[in-house]
Amino acid sequence: MYDVIIIGGGPGGLTSAIYCARFGLSTLVLEKQAAGGQINLTESIENYPGFDEPIFGYELSQRMERQALKFGANIIYEEVIDVDFSGEIKVVKTTEKEYESKAVIISTGAYPKRLFIPGEENFIGRGISFCGTCDAPLFKGKNVAVIGGGDTALEEAIIISRWADKVYLIHRRDKFKGQKILQDKVFSNNKIKIMFNSIPLEFYGDQLLKGLKIKKTLGDNKEETIDLDVEGAFIFIGHLPNSKIFEGKLELSNEGFIKVDKYMKTNIEGVFACGDVVEKELRQVTISVGEGALAAYEAYKYVQK
Ligand code: NAP
Repeated sequence: MYDVIIIGGGPGGLTSAIYCARFGLSTLVLEKQAAGGQINLTESIENYPGFDEPIFGYELSQRMERQALKFGANIIYEEVIDVDFSGEIKVVKTTEKEYESKAVIISTGAYPKRLFIPGEENFIGRGISFCGTCDAPLFKGKNVAVIGGGDTALEEAIIISRWADKVYLIHRRDKFKGQKILQDKVFSNNKIKIMFNSIPLEFYGDQLLKGLKIKKTLGDNKEETIDLDVEGAFIFIGHLPNSKIFEGKLELSNEGFIKVDKYMKTNIEGVFACGDVVEKELRQVTISVGEGALAAYEAYKYVQK
């Protein structure tokens, strides 16, 4: 039996692992794919303190993983398919076997909603991004598309327009869902070209993204297909948490994000959560690592008790 099992090896989970291992807890991280989670989707990270030159998302995750291993955490690459938090001993079941621990830290992350159109998977990290704050500077002087009509799309379009030459803001309806104050800023920004009633159909290019095909409805049942020459495309159509296995076992928000208190405690004693799977407003690597440290400290106190 482990002292702590950490489910998910993104920045939050790996930070918890570093801290738990240094607290002297026997620590197991269960990760289904590769350590790092969503930061592996980001070409380079420019806003992580301590790296005054951009660091590749993949490299940052590798470093975090090495650091956790160095302090004695175990990392096993297996997908967690079920949990039993009903007893004092927590049970975590993977595709391969069952593990037991005194405490659990959940850091399974969230994933940006996808459009599920041709070319999308191919160009992620090669033109398609889900984070304007991280990747907008890569598109300095270029034409890009921003897809979505909520607060995130409007806010990010404004940020991206500081770098890009032209931002096509593509929304499927004839009005935005986002706040009026953001709409006003978008409408008055002469670098942003708003394309209402426009549905993305296909991303295309060679090694890198070169364009996006959209269908624009014109009224009177007419529509036209337009090719936009864009080297970047940002998709902001909402996020979904990786929390399916916790349904009915932990308190979740309406959207499925895990509810925690200010100590990263869930509604079940001995079960903590951190990172993007947690209900909150702003999702950033820096926030996940802070939460990961706090969750580890609380798990340590719980195990000691
Ligand atoms: P959101 O509010 O769910 O908006 C998602 C947008 O994407 C909607 O406009 C939606 O279109 C569009 N969309 C969804 N699926 C699509 C698809 N398959 N194809 C094309 N378009 C699609 O998501 P969000 O903007 O990320 O915001 C999430 C939450 O965070 C919201 O509560 C928001 O208020 C909050 N937030 C607040 C701030 C702020 O206060 N400054 C900033 C960012 C986010 P429809 O409009 O047609 O549904």
